[in-house]
Amino acid sequence: MGARVSAPSGMLQVGRVAERCEVLGPGRRAVVWVAGCPLRCRECVVPELLDPAAGEPVAVAELSERLLALPQLDGVTFSGGEPFAQAEALLELTRRLRARRPQLSLMSYSGYPLSWLRKHGTPAQLALLDRLDVLVDGPYLPERHAPLRWRGSSNQCIRLLSDRHAELAQAADEPAGIELELDTGGRFAWAGVPPRRGWRHELERRLAEQGVLLEAAATPEEAR
Ligand code: SF4
Repeated sequence: MGARVSAPSGMLQVGRVAERCEVLGPGRRAVVWVAGCPLRCRECVVPELLDPAAGEPVAVAELSERLLALPQLDGVTFSGGEPFAQAEALLELTRRLRARRPQLSLMSYSGYPLSWLRKHGTPAQLALLDRLDVLVDGPYLPERHAPLRWRGSSNQCIRLLSDRHAELAQAADEPAGIELELDTGGRFAWAGVPPRRGWRHELERRLAEQGVLLEAAATPEEAR
């Protein structure tokens, strides 16, 4: 399926990790933004993560230990970039996480629709689907932009792949908001679903006027 990111075996090409996030999936989560995406959605707000060489290679074993050491973690979300372009490495990561923390919730984004993945997915991609509790699927279509829970355009769906979050089927489809992070070095990062088209560029322009730089691998999901 599509182009795959070819990080060495046992490595994941990572753009950014947020150790605590409450706007990209249920509960308190870590978010791993992988680098590399074979899709080219118009108005993608993470162009810095389209290149498979963006970010840096991280050993899956090391990343797993880092995530497992986080206190009060309900789950982990994979975003990007295209997580399913690195399915082998994410499969290994999910295996390690679940082996030590079976109750951990696992969620991923994909620009590919679930039906397409089920029909054309590689064995690793299909096995990754089997490990996930939640998938948000489909490309970002700017003409269908909408402020929805965890996703940016109305073609995208929240797929419940296990019964771990069955309550979501009845939950109101409301935006989860945006999280902002500013460090002492003047670097600024954000996570969440932009409330409107062009939001990121407007934010970057306003921050630049104040001398603040947006961290490169900022967010997914106006995105998807
Ligand atoms: S919006 Fe997501 S799926 Fe689409 S090109 Fe950007 S990273 Fe890839």
